[in-house]
Amino acid sequence: MLARMKNEQLLSISDVTKTFAGKNSKSPVHAVDGVSFTLNKGETLGIVGESGSGKSTLGRVILNLLPPTSGSIHFNSLDLSTLSARELRSARREMQMIFQDPFSSLDPRMKVGELIQEPLDIHKIGTQAERAALVLKIVESVGLSPEAIDRYPHEFSGGQRQRIAIARAIITKPKLIVADEPVSALDVSIQSQILNLLLQLQRELGLAYIFISHDLSVVEHVADKIMVLYLGKVVECGTIDEIFNNPTHPYTRALISAIPQINPEDRTQRTVLTGDIPSPADRPTGCHFHPRCAFAVDACRITSPELLPLTNQPSHSVSCHVFNGDSQ
Ligand code: SF4
Repeated sequence: MLARMKNEQLLSISDVTKTFAGKNSKSPVHAVDGVSFTLNKGETLGIVGESGSGKSTLGRVILNLLPPTSGSIHFNSLDLSTLSARELRSARREMQMIFQDPFSSLDPRMKVGELIQEPLDIHKIGTQAERAALVLKIVESVGLSPEAIDRYPHEFSGGQRQRIAIARAIITKPKLIVADEPVSALDVSIQSQILNLLLQLQRELGLAYIFISHDLSVVEHVADKIMVLYLGKVVECGTIDEIFNNPTHPYTRALISAIPQINPEDRTQRTVLTGDIPSPADRPTGCHFHPRCAFAVDACRITSPELLPLTNQPSHSVSCHVFNGDSQ
């Protein structure tokens, strides 16, 4: 069923930008700049980049928690910008978010059962008895015991709290979940349990995920395709195989080469990323990556490269003057 669903489009983002007024400078902050992509039902898109790349802002813009400055977002063929507040609330039943920190994303004053049931109360779904039965079912489906319902979040470990947050996100039977660094606050030993749970729920419920992470090694395990962001712009996108077998943009190569390899045969020469990501309020001219790029030529300082498909891999696009397909 999941394979068939993966041909049906769920989300279409077209030329979306998000700009904030700068605090101490006159320059606006370009958090998201001209991002376009589509996502099918049951599919996972990984959005990767360093802190400050704009990926979390993009996640919130996709769910219309932050309205875009320009561009369009179509979810289930609905143009979110044209919906009334009531229609948007209704659409949100089908679009949920899981946050990085399960310690602060759950209200400590509410019992776990109340927390998980709250989205049903907000959207007025089912009778009280039906809501209680559904909470019990969902609690078990995320691997918690039924007794968890009467306890408070602080009584649980980080991994268990993330299971509670996942239960809360899936109880309205969403079609799309935006997961913003959902395992980065967890111990490594717990991370794979939560990733496996997300994959299991995707198979069972046909969920589409947007999986936001700074860690390409995490995204590699869950995503069908990957989009690499740098200072709000997409610098490379493609299927998981295309990105990992033929990383082309120097920034993507640096992120991949930073992944620790246990097997010495898998270790390639490391591309070290020097310096910090610049401020989105003061982006470098031309290719925003040029001050950190070992391959920069004069054109890189002047002209912003377009995101273009590689000649030999049309589903794999790269934004670079030097590594743009002809050089592959
Ligand atoms: Fe480096 Fe130039 Fe490509 Fe930017 S356009 S990534 S500076 S080579």
